[in-house]
Amino acid sequence: MKRVVVLGGGVGGTLAANLIARKLKREIAAGQAKVTVVDATGSHAYQPGYMYIAMGNEKAEKLVRPEKSLLDGNVELVIDTVTRIDAPGNSVTLGSGATMAFDQLVIALGSRILPGDLPNFEGEAHHFYTPEAAKRLRKALDAFQGGKIVVAIAGIPYKCPPAPLEVAFLVESELRERGLRDKTEITFLSPINRAFTIESVSDMATPIFEEKGIRLELLAGVSEIDPERKVVITDAFEEHPYDLLICVPPHKGAQVVIDSGLAPKSGWVPTDRATLQVKTIAKPAPGTADEDIPRYPNVYALGDTTDLPLSKAGSTAHFEAPVVAERVAAAIKGRAPEGKEANYTGKVMCFFEVGDGKGTLLQFDYNHPPKPPKPSALWHIGKIMFNKTYWRTVPRGRV
Ligand SMILES: Cc1cc2nc3c(=O)[nH]c(=O)nc-3n(C[C@H](O)[C@H](O)[C@H](O)COP(=O)(O)OP(=O)(O)OC[C@H]3O[C@@H](n4cnc5c(N)ncnc54)[C@H](O)[C@@H]3O)c2cc1C
Repeated sequence: MKRVVVLGGGVGGTLAANLIARKLKREIAAGQAKVTVVDATGSHAYQPGYMYIAMGNEKAEKLVRPEKSLLDGNVELVIDTVTRIDAPGNSVTLGSGATMAFDQLVIALGSRILPGDLPNFEGEAHHFYTPEAAKRLRKALDAFQGGKIVVAIAGIPYKCPPAPLEVAFLVESELRERGLRDKTEITFLSPINRAFTIESVSDMATPIFEEKGIRLELLAGVSEIDPERKVVITDAFEEHPYDLLICVPPHKGAQVVIDSGLAPKSGWVPTDRATLQVKTIAKPAPGTADEDIPRYPNVYALGDTTDLPLSKAGSTAHFEAPVVAERVAAAIKGRAPEGKEANYTGKVMCFFEVGDGKGTLLQFDYNHPPKPPKPSALWHIGKIMFNKTYWRTVPRGRV
């Protein structure tokens, strides 16, 4: 019996497990293979919806479903916390004390938000990275009657790179509709030297900041929040006063991958950009090429877990999962990975709201930067439709 263990029941883990089970249908029926997902909560959250809670268009209850309901009938679910991953020893330890041996392992443990890592974040800054925080932000926006709003980012990388820009644009639209725009100054603090990490997207977004009268400050990573004076202090020692502060919290990878020696302190697991195999973190000898860094042949990572220089997005996990599934199934069947799913091309596809009922689309891969189409109602509606159909499509491998 070959055991495939998938750690994490989010977008990446659920989809990978379902695709692997589909590819190994015969082997599972013959008792030669078993696919197990381990998830700490047993619930699957659709996180992109959190932004819409903050914007007043979504309910938290609609964004969570039992993980079991999304899994192929051939996938076993274990609800437990992963506390140790022994990659060379081919086993994982769970919070209950149980150990699970694996032949193939998929790590899809997502990322953690750590608001407490920035002093005064909790208590001063609003965010929309959990349903509870998004609800609090909604209340704060409802109570807002004008003043200074600062939208900021407390560290890169973070989930869904367009999200803070989208929120700035959506809040601006809302305040205009509520007749509060003239009484409000909005400032966006970008931690880098442009509006967005990818140049073509930055070129698209910068004029939108201008049109909407949102002040765009560059090289303005958040260094401190001073609650007494209600100012954000940037890395460049500039001060930005706020009445309402909306800030993306600091992010890290899962603690268990750090504790297990699979990732540095950041928690992002070194991952091969094409095969998605996990690389060892042992320092390579001087002059060693990336290809020479040893990989664990039977351990894969996908989604937010990886250190790949791509968006931490459900969409990334969505396009990585077929590659992991092909490689894992091929290993179990004793053949080489084949077809266009043998290697990941860096494909990502994300909708991007720009306010006023319009959006655009970011579609790219390692070799082709995005060429976002002119913002229009089409892409805004596309995002809404995608959100509504998610439960029937992405995790089940139907798109
Ligand atoms: C506000 C917001 C807006 C977003 N908007 C978009 C968007 O528009 N488009 C887009 O593509 N993406 C968006 N994202 C990002 C997207 O939700 C994530 O990138 C995606 O969920 C990552 O998938 P994943 O499988 O890697 O991790 P997750 O979906 O986070 O799943 C990780 C799973 O691992 C489990 N887990 C963690 N640690 C342990 C442990 N030790 N033991 C057992 N289980 C564990 C968790 O319970 C969870 O179920 C958004 C995110 C947020 C917060």
